[in-house]
Amino acid sequence: MALKNYGPCSVQNCNLPRDRYRQFTSLAYNKAQKKGTYKTYPYLKIGQQLCYLHYLRIVEPDRGQKSRTPELKNYSFHQ
Ligand SMILES: [Zn+2]
Repeated sequence: MALKNYGPCSVQNCNLPRDRYRQFTSLAYNKAQKKGTYKTYPYLKIGQQLCYLHYLRIVEPDRGQKSRTPELKNYSFHQ
């Protein structure tokens, strides 16, 4: 599955760290429409590659925020 996603990121002028890629699937497209993030990237087409950070930003804006908070909490907990 990961072998298919080799990039490059389809977001214009992407300068995010690019270590992983996700495909912009029709499911992802529908989610982006619902979240309203697709308006920011109207040139994206189904089947294109996105870097993982852009994918999260566009397709999973809620999940991206939630997964960051517990990580920070764990950090301070260890100190
Ligand atoms: Zn990107």
